[in-house]
Amino acid sequence: MENCIFCKIIAGEIPSAKVYEDEDMLVFRDINPQAKVHCLCVPKSHFATLAEMNAEQAEILKKCFVKIPGLAKSLGLENGYRLIVNQGKDAGQTVFHLHIHILGGQDMGEKLI
Ligand code: 5GP
Ligand code: ZN
Repeated sequence: MENCIFCKIIAGEIPSAKVYEDEDMLVFRDINPQAKVHCLCVPKSHFATLAEMNAEQAEILKKCFVKIPGLAKSLGLENGYRLIVNQGKDAGQTVFHLHIHILGGQDMGEKLI
């Protein structure tokens, strides 16, 4: 997808601190971390929000969620972590390529959910 920053990261046109990659997903460190550990799990197939996801992409998203617990362990998040998937403007979504925030490495508190 043209002009999508995450597609450019996936294509290697923009550098990122990669944590994990396979044919379906790329996981890298967020450039502006909101917790001690803040990674983004990004399906390689471009879709902006869950509302635009097709059946094939739903399978990939499932693989992302299956992969995340093992990744979290390797990131040192044995005590828990928070996943956030912003959907649209009111949620504060700024990059319109679906992604899962993985946040942890500290007590995340109880303020936001
Ligand atoms: P959203 O607000 O759309 O849920 O989250 C987008 C996230 O992408 C933000 O946390 C932002 O810091 C991160 N981000 C935006 N541009 C880049 C980039 O070029 N590299 C990396 N690693 N993260 C980015
Ligand atoms: Zn994209």
